[in-house]
Amino acid sequence: EDKFDTGLKRSRNRFREGLLSLVGKEIKIDHDFMDEIEAFLYQSDFGPRITESLLQKIEESSRKSPVTNYEHIQDIIRDAFRDHFAGNDAKIPVGNHHPFVLLVAGVNGSGKTTTLGKLAYAYAQQGKKSLIIAGDTYRAAAVEQLETWAQRAGASFIKNPGAKNPSGIIYDGIQKGIRDQSDLILIDTAGRLHNKAHLMEELSKIIRVIQKLIPDAPHENLLVLDGTVGQNGLIQAREFGKILPISGLVVTKLDGTAKGGVLAAIHEEMGVPVKFVGLGEKIDDLLPFDADLYVDSLFG
Ligand code: GDP
Repeated sequence: EDKFDTGLKRSRNRFREGLLSLVGKEIKIDHDFMDEIEAFLYQSDFGPRITESLLQKIEESSRKSPVTNYEHIQDIIRDAFRDHFAGNDAKIPVGNHHPFVLLVAGVNGSGKTTTLGKLAYAYAQQGKKSLIIAGDTYRAAAVEQLETWAQRAGASFIKNPGAKNPSGIIYDGIQKGIRDQSDLILIDTAGRLHNKAHLMEELSKIIRVIQKLIPDAPHENLLVLDGTVGQNGLIQAREFGKILPISGLVVTKLDGTAKGGVLAAIHEEMGVPVKFVGLGEKIDDLLPFDADLYVDSLFG
């Protein structure tokens, strides 16, 4: 897929330049070299655990047979990265429920609104009808933006701009989704409330309201994370993980960072699959995560 290649250009270039500048024409795997590789992996946001295991693999490999060039180092890192995502199941079985209820959470600015629009569009391309519920009733401007995205995606949309909390609109929305025989109900949620307890209370209320009408829903809880914020994103992810049972991740703006390693760090931290990646601002710039394509584009 071309989009992976274009979207990950920055990370790929950084990787190439970084490694090439380190190794020059000939590599000698000595202490200095390992220190430099370590610094490079940290700068690429692989995080401590993955960095450690990569260093180990490079060392092991150099003990077995001499590691002599850039390509060899690249291969080791590529294989380790691929191994890391081996069990990552990006599929969302939307056909298993009718309607399939998908909740989207994440802090403001992470790309939540955009992602909802892109999701509805992606499913529309598969012939599936979506309804988007504007469950973040606190940001009037965001509700308008979401409506614009829904229109672009050809999705139905329901909002209640005057509401003090989202319970009513969620209830109405689920009823509408059932009545209209929507294939998917995509629910936006607040990205920031006064404090964690408040956010937790709101999210659990939303889930209770959904379950009044569809007891086994939501069928998927996606957390949207901004791929450019590095370690901050990890802290946010961890906090949300305590509030909501996250079933999958959407990592956005990977086209805007040279630190593509962050995806591995986030995945490692959260222990849930990466389902989609955002590789641009356009409506078709959200792609189901494919580890092989990702790795090929990152290191290719
Ligand atoms: P929200 O506050 O979480 O709802 O965030 P928005 O959806 O409004 O997105 C915030 C900004 O990030 C907007 O300018 C989007 O166009 C931009 N954005 C979202 N996803 C991506 C992405 O994958 N790549 C790039 N380059 N920009 C993105």
